[in-house]
Amino acid sequence: MGGQDAVLLLSECRTKSWSSAVMRMVGPLTRLAPVTLLLVATEGDEVAFWVDQPGELETILQVTFPTPANAETLAPWLAEWIGQQGFSHVAAASSTWSRDLLPRLAAMLDLSMVSGVSGIVDRQTFQRPVLAGRGLETVRINQQPVIMTLQASLFPANSQFKETPLPVIAIPPPEQTMGSRHVAFLPSPSTHKELTTASVVVAGGQGVGDLATFGQLEQLAALLGGAVGASRAAVDAGFAPNDWQIGQTGKTIAPQLYLAAGISGAIQHLAGIQAAETMVVINKDEAAPIFAISDYGLVGDLHKVLPELLTLLQQD
Ligand SMILES: Cc1cc2nc3c(=O)[nH]c(=O)nc-3n(C[C@H](O)[C@H](O)[C@H](O)COP(=O)(O)OP(=O)(O)OC[C@H]3O[C@@H](n4cnc5c(N)ncnc54)[C@H](O)[C@@H]3O)c2cc1C
Repeated sequence: MGGQDAVLLLSECRTKSWSSAVMRMVGPLTRLAPVTLLLVATEGDEVAFWVDQPGELETILQVTFPTPANAETLAPWLAEWIGQQGFSHVAAASSTWSRDLLPRLAAMLDLSMVSGVSGIVDRQTFQRPVLAGRGLETVRINQQPVIMTLQASLFPANSQFKETPLPVIAIPPPEQTMGSRHVAFLPSPSTHKELTTASVVVAGGQGVGDLATFGQLEQLAALLGGAVGASRAAVDAGFAPNDWQIGQTGKTIAPQLYLAAGISGAIQHLAGIQAAETMVVINKDEAAPIFAISDYGLVGDLHKVLPELLTLLQQD
């Protein structure tokens, strides 16, 4: 790559596709340099030979392992391969997978890394939320390649699709190291929409009070074509599963519409909803902090408001 900037975007490939987070990151990364996507797949789950809608991707590579590859296998191999290819940036979406792999890779290359990036200022300067979203930190990295994870849900979905299909170029895998071993992958049985990419999110908090009322939020989300989320207190109370939690220790969302019912607006919850475009809040306490950041607020008892809202929407 002759000293020119080039971005390597890493992604796991599961069930013959990569995560939608990839397409959110390609646009902003392409502003830095042409983006090569490297898919790390397992036999049987790899993508086909051609990709029809590659977006702004320049090249698609795929390395396929007989069994899911762990970070102990991938990091030393990538460290050597990236050095040969001369990438200026190595990026991945923030995930359990990348949190395992990228710090190990950075350490092997004796580099710093920047994690949880929410904004790209220039080829060396990046922004990320800190202190549970109370501040935005700007970080400048003076080393190359820049190794980073991005909070993909904070970047807009990429709508620029190239007409021309791209070939998927297979590269040979290294031998697998068995320091740790993948035992099983169980897809979630829920048909629940993915929170981080949903354009509508309806979320409930402790104030929802019981499972049946939480079910009304699910109905509301279904009518609006959205996903259901929850505060940590609602998860702790057993109203919602763990992976519905939004916030500092949950998911970061960026929907066009966020509707919150019975959520007070603790700073740790707000950390996950700052990128929501329009916020609608139902809370019986007019002094609840969440009203301060909402676009539309309704002071009222959600046990009255939710059934009325459902009836109105069902009439449409
Ligand atoms: C390290 C750390 C990490 C954390 N991470 C997260 C995180 O990722 N996500 C998260 O959400 N929290 C997180 N928390 C917890 C956070 O501090 C709050 O405790 C939590 O967000 C509160 O949830 P809540 O708003 O549902 O409950 P509450 O604060 O109890 O608020 C309930 C609200 O419901 C309203 N209400 C009650 N009844 C009704 C009714 N009938 N009609 C209308 N409104 C009603 C009340 O007025 C109140 O405002 C974290 C805390 C710590 C310390």
